[in-house]
Amino acid sequence: MNEDRLKSAASAFLESIGDDPNREGLKDTPDRFATACKKLYSGYAMKPEDVLTVFDDEKYDEMIVVKDIEFYSMCEHHIIPFFGKAHIGYIPDGKIIGLSKIPRMVEIFSRRLQNQERLTSQIAASLNDLLKPKGVGVILEAKHLCMMARGVEKQNSVVTTSSVTGIFKSNMNTRSEFLRHIER
Ligand SMILES: [Zn+2]
Repeated sequence: MNEDRLKSAASAFLESIGDDPNREGLKDTPDRFATACKKLYSGYAMKPEDVLTVFDDEKYDEMIVVKDIEFYSMCEHHIIPFFGKAHIGYIPDGKIIGLSKIPRMVEIFSRRLQNQERLTSQIAASLNDLLKPKGVGVILEAKHLCMMARGVEKQNSVVTTSSVTGIFKSNMNTRSEFLRHIER
């Protein structure tokens, strides 16, 4: 990430909207903006295989569900946040990962410019690739500030997206079990 360019971009932006980058309240804003970007876009520097420890030879073969994982992402169309909750389930096939690593996976893909659909399928695809499970289910519920703040229709609505693989796709019972876990 190029910190100097982030700072000058922020100053240029402040001027472009008609404000004065030198006034008291704004004089440290480019610095703060650059610092915030390090967190907001930290996902670009992370790869799922780097943070996910996979345990082999596990006998557990029931569904594992982690729900209500808070996430914050940035809409790639407006560079404005969208945020909400992710619910993730999978049925292992010999490999599992530490439970705390699942929110980490969400973090890796959400801390970038994104759209909700792609974010959902990237999480599902990388869990699928890393664990080769019997199946994965990912559901994201999010509010988009670009819709809410600009006053476009569906202002306060929650956008839901899902991505399923393997048995979550082919087996109706598995899919409904996943949904029951989430609704609980
Ligand atoms: Zn948007």
